Amino acid sequence: MKISLRPHSLSFISSLFLLILFSGSLLAQTRPVNEFRIEPPFWWAGMQCSKLQLLVHAKDVSGLKAVVNYPGITIQDQVSVENPNYLFINLLLDKDLKPGSFDLQFMAKGKVVRSYRYEMKQRVAGSASRKGFTPSDVIYLLMPDRFANGNPANDSMPGMLEKPDRSKPLGRHGGDLAGIRKHLGYISELGFTALWPNPVLENNNAAQSYHGYAITDFYKVDPRLGTNEEYLELIADAHAKGLKVIMDMVFNHCGINHWFINDLPMKNWIHQFPQYTRSNFRAESVTDLYAAEADRNRMLQGWFDRNMPDLDQRNPFLREYLIQNSIWWIEYSGIDGIRLDTQPYPYKEMMAEWTKRVNAEYPDFTIVGEAWLQKESMTSYYQKDTELGDGYNSGLHSVTDFPLYNATTRAFTENEGWTEGMARLYYVLAQDFLYANPSYLLTFLDNHDLNRYYNTIGNDLKAMKMALTFLLTTRGIPQIYYGTELLMDGQEHVNHGEIRKDFPGGWPGDSINAFTPQGRTNEQNEVFNHLQRLLQWRKDNEVISQGSLKHFVPEDGVYVYFRTKGDQKVMVIINRNPEQKVLKTSRYEECINGYATAFEVLTGRLVSLSGEVVLPARTALVYELKK
Ligand code: CA
Repeated sequence: MKISLRPHSLSFISSLFLLILFSGSLLAQTRPVNEFRIEPPFWWAGMQCSKLQLLVHAKDVSGLKAVVNYPGITIQDQVSVENPNYLFINLLLDKDLKPGSFDLQFMAKGKVVRSYRYEMKQRVAGSASRKGFTPSDVIYLLMPDRFANGNPANDSMPGMLEKPDRSKPLGRHGGDLAGIRKHLGYISELGFTALWPNPVLENNNAAQSYHGYAITDFYKVDPRLGTNEEYLELIADAHAKGLKVIMDMVFNHCGINHWFINDLPMKNWIHQFPQYTRSNFRAESVTDLYAAEADRNRMLQGWFDRNMPDLDQRNPFLREYLIQNSIWWIEYSGIDGIRLDTQPYPYKEMMAEWTKRVNAEYPDFTIVGEAWLQKESMTSYYQKDTELGDGYNSGLHSVTDFPLYNATTRAFTENEGWTEGMARLYYVLAQDFLYANPSYLLTFLDNHDLNRYYNTIGNDLKAMKMALTFLLTTRGIPQIYYGTELLMDGQEHVNHGEIRKDFPGGWPGDSINAFTPQGRTNEQNEVFNHLQRLLQWRKDNEVISQGSLKHFVPEDGVYVYFRTKGDQKVMVIINRNPEQKVLKTSRYEECINGYATAFEVLTGRLVSLSGEVVLPARTALVYELKK
């Protein structure tokens, strides 16, 4: 995620809390501890890892002695920390542990004073061998608060500080999991195979809670989006419609109103400073050979925003807590992948351990890191198995391809030059040798933090169609932001609400319903149909998901590349010129040798490849070559 660099308006509650936090009383409570909480709230028998750390939070719990009587479970140790309201219990789990429930008892002076029913669940068959998302997928990114309101009854929920107000661009609008569930058919019929909703966990903040990146409970779906059970139902329904689900997770920070921020287990649970200290957002300092410690520390330890305390993942209790939390969600919900927020901001060593532990449980599961970096070299540093100087291996299968994104923001609009226009795409892809696995890069034209692409290219429908064709036929795992199919526009710097508008028709009583062709304008239907045709064609098409890529240096505003797998061959020609061009096919002989004709995927026309091909102005053609 990205934070705007404009000053933020603070809620009164957060201001008060910060005053207390930064005034030296580092474990100050603003709310009394009434609950008896254990996290993870349950676990599973038969996991790879034979250890389980239980975090117990209750008033003065540290003095109690934990006891378990269940075959296959031993208490290795119990650890008290600075705050007496916490107890960490380390369990050893036998390989042949049977599912079941038991009483986790807490004793004082030889008597049981508290008991918690803990469950070791049965794992779902095949859960360890699930397949994550791959280049065969195209991901639909949506913001749950802004997509569809399937249940107006949960718009305002007791205990939640922010109430709905659709008139505010940065307010809560009432979208929810029920709304997503209702429109899964729309997403899958468009041709998408995966869904990435922005974070769904509780964000009980006084303002701007809608985006989901200030989590206040790592084990609970925000009640305004739905319940944990509804999240499971959404995932089951998505799977039934051929859609994988990617969960958006945040480990760099949490929300200021997180229950453990209110009663910190220990000082180094988060990074603390004498006064509010913000990250310098200089991700370069992590890999910079000459970085000053002060800069690197400020990057890693400074807060993302005033309402987002920076977690210190070096703390072993916290590290275990976060790793187990991810495994818990994977096992519990059946998700197919994780999108990791702000990848370079947490300690990279911790994140490497995290990916290792997740993949030890689920070897074929995939994770994409949001590496918001400008250079190919820095981006590649964060992909699994990329070999660079310092031997770091993030373990992350996929990372966001911001260099290619940057290229697409200019390639279709600026004048052609040696390094400009189409050459921008060429120059980025020509650096793929830096990556261990370029086909696993997450490619996109925009997302929830960026200007809407339609706006970037000056509301130009033809440029939009060319760019979408490029995105869906070059290497990578494409991600498309909701509303792209409706030509939604908006600029990030105006305010984030501008790029996160409600999907028309998602709310009861909306005057326009863009989920249906009748509710869309002609232009919207044109881009919708273009996208649908490409997505449906790309689905299960191994020449795109697995085929090799060969491209030719763009000349005269024309960019040509080929995808090949066995006998299957696809030729993509982008002519961005404002006039028709004639392409001599002899230059491409090494690729089209042996193929006489081609089927044009978007128009259904059959064309001859001998001699010359006529290229319509400002159009991308997708040819399936035929012998
Ligand atoms: Ca709702």
